[in-house]
Amino acid sequence: MKDIAGQIESGTAASGKTYAFNEEHDPTRPAQMWFQESDEGLVLFVVFYTQACRWSKCLGCNLPSKCSRFHVGYKPLIAQVDTLFAMPEVEEKRLSIRKVIVSNNGSVLDQETFSSTALLYLMAKLNLTIPNLKTLTMETRPEYVDLPELEFLKRALEEGDTPTTLELAIGFEVFDDHIRNNIFKKGLSLETFEQFIADLARYGYTAKCYLMQKPVPGMTDLDGVRDVEQAIDYLSRIAKEYRVRIGIHLNPTFVAHGTPLAERFAAGEYAPPVLRDVARAALHARGKGVPVFLGLYDEGLAVPGGSFIRAGDEPTVEDLERFNRTQDFGLLERVVGEHP
Ligand code: SF4
Repeated sequence: MKDIAGQIESGTAASGKTYAFNEEHDPTRPAQMWFQESDEGLVLFVVFYTQACRWSKCLGCNLPSKCSRFHVGYKPLIAQVDTLFAMPEVEEKRLSIRKVIVSNNGSVLDQETFSSTALLYLMAKLNLTIPNLKTLTMETRPEYVDLPELEFLKRALEEGDTPTTLELAIGFEVFDDHIRNNIFKKGLSLETFEQFIADLARYGYTAKCYLMQKPVPGMTDLDGVRDVEQAIDYLSRIAKEYRVRIGIHLNPTFVAHGTPLAERFAAGEYAPPVLRDVARAALHARGKGVPVFLGLYDEGLAVPGGSFIRAGDEPTVEDLERFNRTQDFGLLERVVGEHP
């Protein structure tokens, strides 16, 4: 039997991360859920409570701390699905939901941490409950993508009342190869990424790539902007080359507790990016055929003072949220122009 808890522990220790896992959580309730407004309509984002990410090495990431070090079986996971669909806000909004993003702060397609039975149950409940679903997004690392499994999930989705696209969301994080793999410890080569996109192309799926702006100490604010710009150019080229729709989810980095980034922040050696620079980086996507969504929520995982949202940023946040709903690049220009 595989020692998944051991893999999680060694991955966490390998990057010097010190956070604890969440063993107190009620396993019949999802870890988190929230709604987002995007240009695709209303989005339901759900993070199921499962065993934590098996990789667990990425330098500034403490997402696994919301999950368990131990296995969460299919019965509690199915109970989480039921809990989700019984929530009054989900019941109230279910007819307006156009996109559902399924996460477990790791890899939904890793069958060791997310039960296949529960995944099938979730698909059935989505078809029964969200009749206007346009896109189903699943977060995963590329190594867990199993094409026959996706073919099956696609067939299940096609039985829903509305044509639904399957989107796979992966953490690309940083364009610079050395920073991505040697410093941030993402463990993702461009070769693996392009094979993943080629596989999606065969099945007509779409991709979403998470990027982080200024994810490691030692990068200046300008380095952070430039890296995102290079990632946008690369992803735009790959989308055209493989004829796959690639959306970008750009997360300004926050200082996650229990990570080496938090230590460098406490020592005054790191500061999160400012929102003006996030707008500046995202502006680069205008006309490139890759829609951008700005992640403006730290999921309550930042240390005090470690967020990218600072006092007085509220009007800027409103502009950026409006950009998420409209893809109106004029709003980004305004943010950059108002804070030259
Ligand atoms: S970024 Fe994703 S793959 Fe990396 S440790 Fe965090 S949850 Fe795991």
